[in-house]
Amino acid sequence: MTDRSDSLFARALQVTPGGVNSPVRAFGAVGGVPRFMVSGAGAYLYDADGRDYVDLVCSWGPMILGHAHPAVVSAVSEALVNGTSFGTPTPGEVDLASEIAARAPAEQVRLVNSGTEATMSALRLARGYTGRSLVVKFAGCYHGHVDALLVAAGSGVATFGLPDSPGVTGASAADTIVLPYNDAEAVTALFASRGAEIACVITEACPANMGIVPPAGGFNALLQSLCRPAGALLIMDEVLTGFRVTSTGWYGVDGVDGDLTTFGKVMGGGLPCAAFGGRASIMSRLAPAGPVYQAGTLSGNPLAVAAGLATLRGCTPDVYAAVDSFSAALSKLVSSALTEAGVPHFLSQAGNLFSVYMGRTAPVLNFDDARAQSPEAYAAFFHSMLDAGVYLPPSPYEAWFVSAAHDDEALTRIASALPAAARAAAAALNA
Ligand SMILES: *Cc1c(COP(=O)(O)O)cnc(C)c1O
Repeated sequence: MTDRSDSLFARALQVTPGGVNSPVRAFGAVGGVPRFMVSGAGAYLYDADGRDYVDLVCSWGPMILGHAHPAVVSAVSEALVNGTSFGTPTPGEVDLASEIAARAPAEQVRLVNSGTEATMSALRLARGYTGRSLVVKFAGCYHGHVDALLVAAGSGVATFGLPDSPGVTGASAADTIVLPYNDAEAVTALFASRGAEIACVITEACPANMGIVPPAGGFNALLQSLCRPAGALLIMDEVLTGFRVTSTGWYGVDGVDGDLTTFGKVMGGGLPCAAFGGRASIMSRLAPAGPVYQAGTLSGNPLAVAAGLATLRGCTPDVYAAVDSFSAALSKLVSSALTEAGVPHFLSQAGNLFSVYMGRTAPVLNFDDARAQSPEAYAAFFHSMLDAGVYLPPSPYEAWFVSAAHDDEALTRIASALPAAARAAAAALNA
């Protein structure tokens, strides 16, 4: 029974474009009607029709402690009764910035409301700081819906980007160069020819928005070693990986720090909160300390800060151990179910993040590779899991997320759903 979701979606379609407030929530890639959720607890989501699901999306990353974690609920409740927004500095903002600076390679931090704002502001700061215009990004990396970064891959090396979305003007994308990911030669050649014009290179510290595509050994270090002598800044986008893959982020895996780093998702604990930070000498160019303007009526909102602080403080070594081990067990189960059903696939893993490309077995190194998979197989797999009470990302280009609340009971439900889903994927591949 999905009556309530069906009728809510029909109403939503009347009043909201496509019936959703973020396209990733629509079932565009898998078909069908999105489930409207009314509550979450631990590893589970509950929909408007009273069905429950093991949640493998975790709000696209933030819910690392699980839904409605008692520490987060009480922190937000306490903040709530004291008032929701003052438009002044508050003590919690200082605490949250300090917690971030203590974990991540950032001396100073500015709080914002979304990952998009973080990357947009980091880009402006990099351009203001260097006095240069050119921005380099990689095909398949996602940095939010910032105009200058919503640019698709051009084929070939150092292609000037063309607008990817109507409404992104040629002018706002003209200073963005898109390179293939993991292509050391392309980025080295670009720096050789235009290094002095480059304001910044922005990259996901470990790409996770085209499925998981880990940086090839030394790729992040190469970016750093090209940027420094050229006077360009390296922006490490850790919005997704920050405080999730390790207590600091992907930085904890490969040790390459950006000149600026962007954060979001986990650090907001499920409320709208994000940040960017870096060396004080760069961050001090921001208003009011410096001339690069950046602002926000609700930035550092007391409820969001309370949720973020409770979440970061709750991210103990035990939490990472639980997330790591559940992710390892889950990915192993998924891969063996697919093998058993005869579905060729490539399981891509980076720390506790993973995704599965169906219909191919070769490693995925870049966006072109990522696109060579079977969306039909994934859609069949997704719907079979959904029917069995497991909520997967409704797209084959997304990572699977788990939390510290995912336990043996959740794993058992997933394990019992997997064989049929794998057979459905096999049938779709062979159709
Ligand atoms: C989610 C994400 C963003 C955008 O964050 P929003 O809060 O959705 O605006 C930016 N960069 C990366 C790597 C992300 O995964």
